[in-house]
Amino acid sequence: MTQTTNGGRRALYLILLGPPGTGKGTQAKLIAERLGLAHVSTGDMFREAVAQGSELGLRAKAYMDRGELVPDDVTIGMLEERVRQPDAQLGVLFDGYPRTLQQAQALDEGLARQGRAADLALLITASDEEIVRRLSGRWLCRNCGEIYHELTRPPRNAGACDACGGALYQRDDDKPKVARQRLEKQRPPEALLAHYRAQGKLAEVDGQQPVEAVTRDLLAAIERLAAVPSSKPRP
Ligand SMILES: [Zn+2]
Repeated sequence: MTQTTNGGRRALYLILLGPPGTGKGTQAKLIAERLGLAHVSTGDMFREAVAQGSELGLRAKAYMDRGELVPDDVTIGMLEERVRQPDAQLGVLFDGYPRTLQQAQALDEGLARQGRAADLALLITASDEEIVRRLSGRWLCRNCGEIYHELTRPPRNAGACDACGGALYQRDDDKPKVARQRLEKQRPPEALLAHYRAQGKLAEVDGQQPVEAVTRDLLAAIERLAAVPSSKPRP
């Protein structure tokens, strides 16, 4: 069997960043599919490793069972194994990792050990007001459980269920105050962004556009990068 072609393009190692409510997960899936990249989210990776009973998976499970965060060295070890998998031949899209400067530095080192390097960090942006509007605004029918959203699926009559006329209510988790707290906690920290910006590897895309436009801009940013010849050959 001949070596699988990758269309002449080198493997790409991309990091997708964005606050909650910017559709990051949806975009990650679309971009990975389009470019043939392995879509790697640490949550899925932990679950797979635990299911496979790998040594690092079992170590990760011990932390998760105690309700603790999996330490970076365990996560990086798993990511190093992950980038060597056959489905990652054309590269990887990291979704949800790194979250901190320390994790970004550890990922750089882990990729370097594998003879690879992060190519680009893509940041999906949106204003705080827009994010809060997207994260909150969910209403449920008290009677039949139907779900509405002020932005994407408003009921025909405010406060009443289209299906059964029941009263709509908001769970505490869906209220603006909680959305604002979530945003503050999950926003990519400035030090993380500065890390990639300093390397000329940060690209920002306006997340307040329709989904297709965000995908188009992300792909354009990646294409601009892929058009630049690699400074050194990759394995
Ligand atoms: Zn209803």
